[in-house]
Amino acid sequence: MAWTAHTIIQNGKAIPFEEARIHPLAVGLAYGASVFEGIRAYINPVTKRLSVFRLEEHLVRLDQGMKFMRFDDPPSRDELRQGVLDSVKANAPDDDAYIRLQVHIESLGNQSTTGKVGWVCAAIPRERSPKRTSGLALGVSSWTRIADNTTPARIKATANYHAGRIATLQSKADGYDAPILLTREGKVSESAGACLCLVRDGVMITPARDSDILESVTRTTVMQLAAELGVPVEERRADRSELYVADEVFLCGTGQELVPVATIDRLPVGDGKPGAITMKLQEAYESVVRGTTDAHAEWRTPVV
Ligand code: PMP
Repeated sequence: MAWTAHTIIQNGKAIPFEEARIHPLAVGLAYGASVFEGIRAYINPVTKRLSVFRLEEHLVRLDQGMKFMRFDDPPSRDELRQGVLDSVKANAPDDDAYIRLQVHIESLGNQSTTGKVGWVCAAIPRERSPKRTSGLALGVSSWTRIADNTTPARIKATANYHAGRIATLQSKADGYDAPILLTREGKVSESAGACLCLVRDGVMITPARDSDILESVTRTTVMQLAAELGVPVEERRADRSELYVADEVFLCGTGQELVPVATIDRLPVGDGKPGAITMKLQEAYESVVRGTTDAHAEWRTPVV
């Protein structure tokens, strides 16, 4: 049964979901001065308890974003950690939850305004990708990935998602599920809301951190799981043409989780069916996020 979110945490206080407020001229909205994290909490099928996956890593990345954005007096990591746990607890979900933790400038002003920083944390239900077993149809976008010397992808700023949205809407209009974005040099970067991995000759390849990617928590997780399964991992620049000759391709991210790619630019990836390594990694990912294995208990923060 799908649960509904009735409570949101705003600036540390639990309030009814519909009552969260920010002024339309707040710098966080008017100039996109806002950073956020998308986090998931998973239910264990046996204990029925929820735990948040890799909460500390998300909080570290958010700290980096707040520093980069030069926020005055940002909320502490302890406050935000508590906010995440409270947002889940307050809604008592009977299933997985998707958590959006967002920090923004609440002051009114202009591009040079810093001022009062506010935050919200919402736990909401979120469907899993309907293509988890069948695979996505992706298209290489004619839009270019945002560059590090303009709007760094490494910083999870809400404003980055303007570029991601343009590419996503175009890819849907063109009949694809999602775009693959290339860097200005024409190397593979990532999708609009997830990182990309290829498998060639049994080796998992993922674009390096200087490929204008978000330094994804899931990507790091999957690289570690692959190594533990004995799959060699290469973190390096990847050519566009490698997408067409890869044996397997998949996307990974908190929201997408781990989803196979069936076609790219309407060419089948491998034989067009989800690959063996991809599905092995999907299974391994599922068991660490949900805690159906004892491995990596340090990645799961129980919601208590
Ligand atoms: N790239 C982009 C552009 C994203 O928006 C996301 C989702 N946050 C990811 C990659 C995956 O990051 P993570 O694994 O940390 O959720």
